[in-house]
Amino acid sequence: MDDIKLTNKEQDSYLKKQIQTGNFASFMLFTGQEGAGKADSAYKFANAVLCANQDGEPCQICDNCKLLNSNSHPDLICLGGGETIKIAEIRDLQKTLYLKPYKASHKVAIIKDAHLMTEESANALLKVLEEPPKSSVIILTSPDKALLPETVVSRSQVVNFGTNGDSEVFFDAEVLKDTSLILGVGGSLYERFSTAHKYAKDKKTATMFLDSLEMVSRQGLLGEGNSKQNIRALENIQESRRYLGRNLSGKFVLENLILTTNYK
Ligand SMILES: [Zn+2]
Repeated sequence: MDDIKLTNKEQDSYLKKQIQTGNFASFMLFTGQEGAGKADSAYKFANAVLCANQDGEPCQICDNCKLLNSNSHPDLICLGGGETIKIAEIRDLQKTLYLKPYKASHKVAIIKDAHLMTEESANALLKVLEEPPKSSVIILTSPDKALLPETVVSRSQVVNFGTNGDSEVFFDAEVLKDTSLILGVGGSLYERFSTAHKYAKDKKTATMFLDSLEMVSRQGLLGEGNSKQNIRALENIQESRRYLGRNLSGKFVLENLILTTNYK
């Protein structure tokens, strides 16, 4: 299978088309750098697969979408996300995937940061791929396919999420000033909220503002800054990305980020 390469602009329509035609691979590997949108896309794709309406976009009103929005859909299994993925987790996943879907037409598993699978875990996953369970979709995410065993990569449809270069243009002086206001000590809550609202008009702008916040927080980790605060900020930024991926409004997501991080 040839790798599919997508720019930011193409990714939504590509994934939507996959669902609409019902012609999606049952094992996919989403690659791309931090902030390229691979994890958000994996959640969104999973949501669209599980949605009863199957029109490529989660309808948000069917039972499946409601369960997904409350993080309690029995047919979505999420593993990984920053920690070593142990063999017991893959074995549990294997058992679950061979059962019939409970509620939706498919079961979907997302294995985030799949390169953090141990060798044993990767071998256990291979066993699953050799006898793919019916009506199931497995999506791995990782920054680069080179980080995963070739035996796993060769069985997957690789979808590479590129960036379109807009982000560099976006990080101008004003954005960096606003980023510092959100992350820094100065500024009232009102000022922070109204600053954040400038970037809440659509998902793309909100995502780029999160990229800027992430970049500055990472730099803070390397510098003299308070590393605990920066780590918490980075965790909350990742959470915000997930919320945006579930189509929550940019305004809500950025306000929530400010409140939960309680930058002081
Ligand atoms: Zn739905």
